[in-house]
Amino acid sequence: MDIELINTGSELLLGRVLNTHQQWIGRRLADRGYEIQRQVAVPDTGDAIRAAVAEACQRAELVITTGGLGPTSDDRTRDLIAAMFDRTLHEDPKLVRHIAGFFERRGREMPESVKVQALVPEGAEVIKNEFGTAPGLILRYPLEGAAEQRGTLVMLPGPPRELRPMFDHQVMPWLESEVLATAGFSCRTLRSVGLGESRVEEQLTPSLEPWLRQGLEIGYCARSGEVDIRLVARGTQAEDLVARAAEVVRRLLERHIYGEDDVKLEEVIVDALSRSGKSLSVAESCTGGFLAHRLTNVPGASKVLKGGFVTYSNEEKTRVLGVNKDTLATHGAVSESTAKEMAAGALRAAGTDFAVSITGVAGPGGGSPEKPVGTVFIGVADRDGTQVLRCFHPVERETFKYMTTQQALELLRRVHLKSVHGFRAASS
Ligand code: ATP
Repeated sequence: MDIELINTGSELLLGRVLNTHQQWIGRRLADRGYEIQRQVAVPDTGDAIRAAVAEACQRAELVITTGGLGPTSDDRTRDLIAAMFDRTLHEDPKLVRHIAGFFERRGREMPESVKVQALVPEGAEVIKNEFGTAPGLILRYPLEGAAEQRGTLVMLPGPPRELRPMFDHQVMPWLESEVLATAGFSCRTLRSVGLGESRVEEQLTPSLEPWLRQGLEIGYCARSGEVDIRLVARGTQAEDLVARAAEVVRRLLERHIYGEDDVKLEEVIVDALSRSGKSLSVAESCTGGFLAHRLTNVPGASKVLKGGFVTYSNEEKTRVLGVNKDTLATHGAVSESTAKEMAAGALRAAGTDFAVSITGVAGPGGGSPEKPVGTVFIGVADRDGTQVLRCFHPVERETFKYMTTQQALELLRRVHLKSVHGFRAASS
């Protein structure tokens, strides 16, 4: 199946918006065994969109466009495509009601111009948009040189929060049932933390050798502090092969595997704490609240996270968390002892079952020979005591915050596993 993706939007070419649809849709399709052959980003001009769509529809059986379905003058995709395929546009009363309801619920008057989004090209199917007003559209077009066959054009709106649920809940199931061949394909991505890419590969390759000979493909993708292991197989035995290989990976990497596919470490933590009925507080210095931010991005975080303290200065570490002035004077703010007292202080102040602390030198200034820029201490306290981990991330400040909070979440995950299930913490 030849698939092409056209991302419309001048902002993508001006470098003002990152083209995340390319990455996101590409990954979604690849995880189901379909690969995009070509992708192009074009500005919002009629000529550019028309040329890209005409070219893609000559070659591909499935063409996906993103953007340009809104109500403003630069949103031209619907009109242009209808004209190209000689389809008249008619107003869909259900869509008019959906759009009117969207404005009503927000207590806003509906501008007449937004009704343009209720226009549907003759013969097109509508993809409902639960999070916005512009529906998606599916249109069949004649395939060049194949009189019997028809290609499929899927038009989706630009905003990611609208496009993603539409793609997952409507487009992908529809494509799989109507358009894409369902030859056996299986793909699972296991997510690991706490081991480098080479260590992961070294530990897995010998045991997975027999599966590789049977057609299993393994891909490794390393990101800050994490490695994804992607297992893929094709054919009638695909599901079984991937399931058995996944078991081997889980057995070999044990508790370094924290989840599968799109799950995030903070989601795993919130879920685990909430299942065990445990509460959490955080005390952050150099990450400035980023750990609390990541945790509060997870729906249901309020069940476990009771509070967070951003104690940037020494005075605040003492005032809010009760860190001893002598500890700060003797060992410094960036030290094992301070991390320990910060975690214990947060546990006490918020009255939680677990507390995480972070104190480090993000840089670029402030380093010393004993504690160079990138040094960070992470503490996790529970009712039995406090563990402290010394880490080193000599990277720019944003990556530093991400890597540090990733390690903090991982340490918390291990301490929690140990305390709840009595598991031995996996060493990193
Ligand atoms: P709207 O009703 O918001 O106008 P639309 O379908 O017309 O929807 P666009 O106007 O093309 O969509 O894009 C709306 C916004 O969606 C853009 O300003 C941008 O923030 C985001 N967006 C569009 N395309 C992409 C993309 N490829 N990757 C990431 N974000 C995108």
